[in-house]
Amino acid sequence: SRQFTRPLNDLANQFNTLLSAIAGAERVFEVLDEDVEMLDEKEASELSNVIGEVQFENVSFSYEDDEDTVNNISFHAKPGETIAFVGPTGAGKTTMINLLSRFYDKASGRIYIDGKEIQSIKRESLRKHMAFVLQDSFLFEGSIRENIRYGRLTASDREIEEAAKQANAHSFIMKLPEKYDTVLSPDGGGISQGQKQLLSIARAILANPKILILDEATSSIDTVTEIRIQEALQRLMEGRTSFVIAHRLNTIQKADNIIVLKEGEIFEQGSHDELLKQQGFYADLYHSQLKTRLHG
Ligand code: ADP
Repeated sequence: SRQFTRPLNDLANQFNTLLSAIAGAERVFEVLDEDVEMLDEKEASELSNVIGEVQFENVSFSYEDDEDTVNNISFHAKPGETIAFVGPTGAGKTTMINLLSRFYDKASGRIYIDGKEIQSIKRESLRKHMAFVLQDSFLFEGSIRENIRYGRLTASDREIEEAAKQANAHSFIMKLPEKYDTVLSPDGGGISQGQKQLLSIARAILANPKILILDEATSSIDTVTEIRIQEALQRLMEGRTSFVIAHRLNTIQKADNIIVLKEGEIFEQGSHDELLKQQGFYADLYHSQLKTRLHG
C-alpha cells in the first residue's frame, strides 16, 4: 500500500536521498516511493543560461486519481521577483513547489522556465538551477564544511567561509569547538533550528542558482537568530526568482506577487497593498494576525 506522506517530506526525503548518494552520507531518511521519481523524456534537454522567468499556465494536478489538489493555476514570475504562496494548511502551497521542481509530474497544463516547458528539461539540469531552503531535514552526517560545500562540490574552503559570512553563519560556526570541522549528527543535533537554516542559506549562496524555494520556519526561533535569517535571506534572494511558502504574513509584505490559495485554487493574487485594498481573504488574515500580535 502506498504510504501517505506530506509533499514537503517527499521533497526533503528526495533531497536527502540525493545527499546520501552524492556525499556518501549514511542514509537515515525514509526512501521514497518509487513512483514519485519519474524518468526524463528521451529528448530531454539541458537548461543553461537561466534568467529565472517562471510561468504556470492552467496547471491542474491530483496526487490520487480523484479530485484535483490544485486546479487551473496560472501566474507569471519575472526574473528576480519574489512570489509568496499563502493559504490555510492543505491549500496546495507545497504542491506548487513539488510541481515546479518536478518532484511530481503528470500535471495538466504547462509550466515554463525561461519559456521552456519543464517536462522537456532533464530533471537534474532543472534542479541545478534551484536551491531549497527548507524548514528542516537538509543536513547530512558530516562536517559543517561538507554540508555547506554540498551547494557546490568544487568550492574551496575560502569560498565556503565567504558563503557562511554572507549567510550570517560564520560567527556561530567559529564558536563551535571544532569550528568548520564540527560534525553534525544525522538528525542535525547539536545546533539550533535557526542555525540549521543559516547553514542551508550558506549552501544556497554557494550554489548560486537563479531560482530559490523557501519554506519559512514555523517553529519558534529566537529573535536574534530570526533577524540574522531574515537579513541573510534578503541577501540571498537579491537577483533571483524566489518562491516562498509563507506561514507568517509579516515576512512577505515586500513580495512582488502574493498568491492566495484556497482549496487548490487561486483565490486572489497581487501585491500586499493591492490585496489589502481588495478587502478579501488576505486582508482578513492580515488584520487578524496583526490583532494577535498587538493584543494576543
Ligand atoms: P499546503 O502546503 O498548503 O499545506 P499541500 O500542497 O501540502 O498544502 O496539500 C494539498 C492537498 O494535497 C492536501 O489536501 C493534502 O492532504 C494533499 N496531499 C499532499 N501530499 C499528498 C500526497 N503525497 N498524496 C496524496 N495527497 C497529498
